[in-house]
Amino acid sequence: MMPASATRRAMILHEMGLETWRLRTPADSVAAPAPAVEVVADSLAPAIVADWERLRVAVRDCQGCELHRTRTQTVFGVGHSAPRWVIVGEAPGAEEDRQGEPFVGAAGKLLNEMLRAVGLGRGDVFIANVIKCRPPENRNPTPAEIGACAGHLQAQLDLLAPRLILAVGRIAAQSLLGQNEPVGRLRGRAHAFGPAGIPLVVTYHPAYLLRSPAEKRRAWDDLRLACRLVAPRAS
Ligand code: SF4
Repeated sequence: MMPASATRRAMILHEMGLETWRLRTPADSVAAPAPAVEVVADSLAPAIVADWERLRVAVRDCQGCELHRTRTQTVFGVGHSAPRWVIVGEAPGAEEDRQGEPFVGAAGKLLNEMLRAVGLGRGDVFIANVIKCRPPENRNPTPAEIGACAGHLQAQLDLLAPRLILAVGRIAAQSLLGQNEPVGRLRGRAHAFGPAGIPLVVTYHPAYLLRSPAEKRRAWDDLRLACRLVAPRAS
């Protein structure tokens, strides 16, 4: 008989569309995911909290590119203040623009399931996008827009100092790695980000996985690789 945790995991993988996988990663022993929470600022040094709040205001008021004219609001990011993993996506969509939070809607639900499969809730990681404002008609952000916004994401990564970055989708992967390779060539191996060499794993964007469910197995492989590089929770 399967233990309760294995049954729960099987249910989560079923929701992800992966019915035949059996986890064999360090995440096997992790506890049930915590509920999603906003940034836990009191776990940080006061100077970092102040810097974080300055950054939040700077992003909120930013007019660094033309996207500020069409946004409802900026989408700063959400999650833990001292995360082991930071998830980086592309840009807010219509629902994210309305709610002010990244990865909501169907793609967000799938991202939540992916995180749950390795024992994480949204509040255990920090989730951000390369671009903080929604491109009209959900078009891809331009290189100029990505360049204009790059400092915001870099500042977030500097302050959060994650142990691992999970880049979801082509725009995030190419922006963070400074490469033009497609996701299919960038995924499946560990990269190093920045001077600190933070391990970075590339995987498919959940919105793509919703359109191409056959690729979910590869996304699962990417999550297992990330778990091997940096356990998603402290032991
Ligand atoms: S996308 Fe980034 S650079 Fe452009 S206005 Fe929004 S926050 Fe500023």
